Amino acid sequence: MNKYQKLLLLKKLYLYRSLGIEFFEEEFNETSSDNSNLNSIEALKKIVLDCNLCSLSKTRKNVVFGEGNLNAKLLFVGEGPGAIEDETGRPFVGRAGELLTKIINVVLELERKDVFIANIVKCRPPNNRVPTEEEANLCIPYLFKQIDLIKPKIIVTLGATAYKFLTGNHNISISKIRGEVFKFNNKILIPTFHPSYLLRKPSAKREAYKDFLKIKEFYYGGEI
Ligand code: URA
Repeated sequence: MNKYQKLLLLKKLYLYRSLGIEFFEEEFNETSSDNSNLNSIEALKKIVLDCNLCSLSKTRKNVVFGEGNLNAKLLFVGEGPGAIEDETGRPFVGRAGELLTKIINVVLELERKDVFIANIVKCRPPNNRVPTEEEANLCIPYLFKQIDLIKPKIIVTLGATAYKFLTGNHNISISKIRGEVFKFNNKILIPTFHPSYLLRKPSAKREAYKDFLKIKEFYYGGEI
């Protein structure tokens, strides 16, 4: 049973328990039908929009599934929705999102619709706190499934949290690894600063600019 199948099983168990059912005899196996209709992003989105696996689902206004080109070569991973994203159900549409969009347009010479933008957690953590390990671990199979379906060539993690939860490597300093090119599940992974950090510390934009030039180089041809 892969991570995603386990998540669906867990979801089903929670649902049964919430209905007061403590015991059932259904058998689960590798070919369990739950996974069979998950070959499209729309099917996945339906499941994610309906997710109640962690407590963030209780305080969210909207699930922020992610958006963009379903065949994108480049996928951005942020930390989690903020207030405006929670209101609108769209990723990176607040101030940090405006900056990210500008960088995509000006440095990468792309439109938002050319790339895919997702997050580690799909629901807003209250007061924009960092997602807990439990929240991230419950949500991340959705991101892995998005990556599976979209098959980007390059993944760019925005900020330390996105890198840590995506790779499982929590022992890093984003200032040390930003702009490095890693191989991750047969893809190119380039971490850079979170745009919110760039808003707080504009002097870091110079380094971020270099990272985005590298991202551009790989986008338009470079191989690792
Ligand atoms: N910050 C994030 O990490 N993600 C968003 O979608 C918005 C702000």
